[in-house]
Amino acid sequence: MSLDSIRLEGVTTHNLKSVDVSFPKGKLVVAAGVSGSGKSSLVIDTLFEHSKTLYLGALSSKSLDMGDGDYQFDRIAGTQPPVALRQRDGGYSNPRSTVGTLTGLDGLYRLLFGAGSRPVCPACLGPTGPDLFCDDCGCFAEPHSAKHFSPNRKEGKCLQCDGIGELVGFALEKIIPDRSKTLTEIWDGADPGTFAVPNVRKAFEAMAADIGLDLGLPFEKLSPEQTERVLHGSDTIYTLKIRKVTNDFRFEGILGFLERAYRNASSAARKNAFTNYLGREVCPACNGGRLRPESLKATVAGHTFHDFQGDELSRSITRLGDGLASGDVPAQVRELASAIVKQSANIEDVGLGHLQLQRPVTTLSGGELQRLLLAQHLASDLTGVMYVLDEPTAGLHEADTGKILTSLRRLRDLGNTVIVIEHDESVIRAADWIVELGPGAGSRGGEVVFEGRFADLLTSGDSPTAIAMASDGPSRTRTGLADAPWVEVRGITRNNVVDQAAKFPLGALTCVSGVSGAGKSSLVAGIHAAVSRVVAQRSTGVTAENTGIRGAEALDDVIYVEQRPIGRSSRSTLVTYIGISDHIRDAFAAGADAVERGLGRGEFSPNVAGGRCESCKGLGLAEIEMTLFKSEFIVCPECEGRRFQEHVLEVRLGDKNIHDVLSMTVEDALEWFDATSSPKVVQALGVLSEFGLGYLQLGCSTTTLSGGEAQRLNLAGELLKQRRNRTLFIFDEPTRGLHTADIRHLLALFERLISTGNTIVVIEHDVKVIAIADWVIDLGPGAGREGGRVVHSGTPEELADNAESVTGRFLRRLRD
Ligand code: ADP
Ligand code: ADP
Ligand code: ZN
Ligand code: ZN
Repeated sequence: MSLDSIRLEGVTTHNLKSVDVSFPKGKLVVAAGVSGSGKSSLVIDTLFEHSKTLYLGALSSKSLDMGDGDYQFDRIAGTQPPVALRQRDGGYSNPRSTVGTLTGLDGLYRLLFGAGSRPVCPACLGPTGPDLFCDDCGCFAEPHSAKHFSPNRKEGKCLQCDGIGELVGFALEKIIPDRSKTLTEIWDGADPGTFAVPNVRKAFEAMAADIGLDLGLPFEKLSPEQTERVLHGSDTIYTLKIRKVTNDFRFEGILGFLERAYRNASSAARKNAFTNYLGREVCPACNGGRLRPESLKATVAGHTFHDFQGDELSRSITRLGDGLASGDVPAQVRELASAIVKQSANIEDVGLGHLQLQRPVTTLSGGELQRLLLAQHLASDLTGVMYVLDEPTAGLHEADTGKILTSLRRLRDLGNTVIVIEHDESVIRAADWIVELGPGAGSRGGEVVFEGRFADLLTSGDSPTAIAMASDGPSRTRTGLADAPWVEVRGITRNNVVDQAAKFPLGALTCVSGVSGAGKSSLVAGIHAAVSRVVAQRSTGVTAENTGIRGAEALDDVIYVEQRPIGRSSRSTLVTYIGISDHIRDAFAAGADAVERGLGRGEFSPNVAGGRCESCKGLGLAEIEMTLFKSEFIVCPECEGRRFQEHVLEVRLGDKNIHDVLSMTVEDALEWFDATSSPKVVQALGVLSEFGLGYLQLGCSTTTLSGGEAQRLNLAGELLKQRRNRTLFIFDEPTRGLHTADIRHLLALFERLISTGNTIVVIEHDVKVIAIADWVIDLGPGAGREGGRVVHSGTPEELADNAESVTGRFLRRLRD
């Protein structure tokens, strides 16, 4: 065995069938195969997890098992330090983390401003001359350093908000949300944990009597002086008798009391009682800029620190370039600026030039985060690392896919092994080495069907990927649009989309296209909101003027299927997820066997006590603690993995008990269940089968599904929710994570939905899918500020002739 490759032998993780495979080092390797074939099980769950455990173990003195131990193999040799660039990662959930902090660009800008900005006079904020002398007020300013641009340093932070950018304080509109209420009602309705304390109320009433204030007056009717008294009190002392004790009191006002009580609250729980009354406002001193006024005024190349925070990266690159090209700039400043430009260009190269430094990381899409991390690693110059990425092109327009490829090649050329799980044809073509798993999904997959170079893939008879590539793209007999009814939504404004109109035909397939960040999700969210409004008004009988939308009366419902992971509860199984577990239990409970034994539907549920095995609580697995840090699951010795008690398992429906039924695959179950007696079950199983999920077991836990499987299950669940006939389905990139073969299944399903009177709008990047759509709304022309416009609205043929559209260019290429 050579050391030029990472070798895995006898891998049996999940569905893998004793796989032997090698990954050449220092190469760009693609793991291909239909969804559910075992790509992640091999590359992430086994190779990555094992390598991580190995290297973490080597780093720490104790041999801690950090992996989840859910992998199995005979031998793995030749590993390298692993880095996974995931689409989602728990590590990036800090709301304060921004693109600027994550990439280190904020730090570079601080250095740049420290070295390159001319200080402003702290007294009059006027400009200073080269000798730091300010003509306007005659002071000298202190020279700047990086600290003056850090909201965490005393030299830089805004003193009013302590560098937070916003102030937290009592908000009157929260304390008195309804200003038409009388003073008595306000006191009566207040939370006793806050200002409605008896002493305070007594003092308030004494003050009211003193100034002749009518307690029956609505708050909004008070004069400005009266309002001031109610909120901030006065210095007058009233002698009051409370619980037989006489004392002197001053009414300090509702706000005055709240502020003091909040400051003095001794515990977090006490402070918590006030949170309903607290609101945030942008700090008036720094306007959210978090820095001192003199730091906010300082400029480099004519732009403030805050300008650069709010700018799209591509624009900052231009600004710095222009600013530094002219004039004599000190070498140190020039170096810092070019470091910023280089780092920003890395980010632009992975298709993220539209991001702003101040954008919170939590609002990035999974793909955007992954590509940002990719750019980070490109800048790090690490070498000898094994990088693992899952579907880096997901959510990307073909135009951006080229950029990703360039980045992946650069990562490889730095001396790293780059292993990518990918369906995208251009990435597969560009790979140095391809490992294809398959041939099918789940138990029908788990084998290596191809290992080699792209040229050899095409001549390999067994590869579903090669077969899909060789055959023609999907096709569709287009419906005549000439007399189709249309929906038109006008005035859509969201993120970078400003006052745009979108129109699409009913009973047809419309694709919304455009590069990443063009505004597709924003536009579609606008369509969804407008149609939802019409549907909701119809069902409540309220008719209002819907000026922004036309033609939606012809729709009965709208369902928006977003990209999101499905539930991760270990109790969620395939049948509970699609809502047929109750029907299955009912079928058992209604049988003669169950009636005779007095068993109800509850006894057939693994999730409630009664019929389930109590030793494993119906999971079929028992946890045994191996060491302090590690536990392992074994088949429950009590029920032998059958999840139920013996007397429940004796009950049969036809030839099967409940455990047998839950162990059947969807396809077997589809044959076994009777369509007349269990119509709901058969309908749901039919949809799963059409989605290519026929090989999954009814009782399988949804936590073990592969990404593509989970996504299709999610779609199937949404389809089964359909209550009315003429429904508008909006899908956010439904082909993501799907192999070409799986995409065909999906398109067939769309056809069926359309033929039964529904309308489909999808956000889509795959040009082969766009080419068969009835209608395309193309957004762009670029991303962020450069996008947000409907560039083209028409048939794919028309779009292919549109010179301005990037999507059109790729459609042309497909056609020629
Ligand atoms: P791919 O990455 O090719 O889409 P996966 O490797 O994620 O596929 O999954 C391969 C098969 O193994 C799927 O049928 C999936 O349901 C199953 N599987 C994945 N994870 C687990 C697990 N933790 N336990 C049991 N089965 C699993
Ligand atoms: P697409 O779906 O075409 O990738 P989006 O509609 O998601 O594009 O985004 C369009 C623009 O709006 C981008 O510049 C993006 O950075 C910005 N954007 C999207 N979501 C948010 C958000 N939550 N906060 C701020 N900006 C956002
Ligand atoms: Zn401030
Ligand atoms: Zn058990």
